[in-house]
Amino acid sequence: MRITCNRCGQASDALTQPPMPTALGGEIQASICPACWREWLGTQVMLINEYRFNLMDPEARRTLEGQMRAFLKLPSQRPE
Ligand SMILES: [Zn+2]
Repeated sequence: MRITCNRCGQASDALTQPPMPTALGGEIQASICPACWREWLGTQVMLINEYRFNLMDPEARRTLEGQMRAFLKLPSQRPE
């Protein structure tokens, strides 16, 4: 599948698999190139270390998802 990346604007092959088994994972696969996704993964590790996010905590996961959407220039969370 070819996509145009929402973040860098480059045409690219999509991620071979959604990065997570959720609607958000599908959204990322359809709109973010693998290079930008890898950049986010590196940034995510830094954020988790810096802010000591506990990923068992739903509030922390929401905060991190907001950071991810800003980083990847995805629209803010759609209502479920
Ligand atoms: Zn990109």
